[in-house]
Amino acid sequence: MKDENCIFCKIANGEIPSTTVYEDDDFRVILDLGPASRGHALILPKEHFADVCALDEAIAAKVLPLGAKIGSAMKRSLGCAGFNLVQNNGEAAGQTVFHFHMHVIPRYEDGPVIAGWTPGKASPEELAQVAQEIKKGL
Ligand code: AMP
Ligand code: ZN
Repeated sequence: MKDENCIFCKIANGEIPSTTVYEDDDFRVILDLGPASRGHALILPKEHFADVCALDEAIAAKVLPLGAKIGSAMKRSLGCAGFNLVQNNGEAAGQTVFHFHMHVIPRYEDGPVIAGWTPGKASPEELAQVAQEIKKGL
C-alpha cells in the first residue's frame, strides 16, 4: 500500500527524484538531505508503513541485513570507521517523517560528534520494577 500524501512513498517509488545508492523490489536507499555525517543514508521500504510497529514481518526481516550491507559498503568505499543504524518511532522519539525508515550513519575517526544519551543510574530494584511493567505490556 502507498499513501498518496507521503513524501517517502513518492521518493521510494521514484515519483520524486532522490540520490539513490541502492534499489531492489522492496527498498530504495537514498542519501539524507540533511546528513549527520558524510554519506548518511535512509533505507525506505517501497510500501507505506508508518513505523516499526506497522512494519510487515517479511519486510522487517530484510531491513537489518540491508543496513549491514549498506554500512559495510560505506566502510569499504567512504573509509568510515563504523556506522550507526538508527530508527525513530513517534514524534517523542524524533520521528519527523511517518513512513518507516532506517538511518545508516557513517562514523569517522575525528568525525562530527553525534549526540547520544548520558547514561543515568538505576538501582537493581528500579530495574526489576520497570521490567515488571514492560512485561505487562507484552
Ligand atoms: P526522522 O527524524 O527519523 O523521521 O528522519 C527523517 C529524515 O529524513 C531526516 O534526517 C531528514 O533530513 C530526512 N529527509 C526529510 N525529507 C527528505 C527528502 N526529501 N530527501 C531526503 N531526506 C529527507
Ligand atoms: Zn509512505
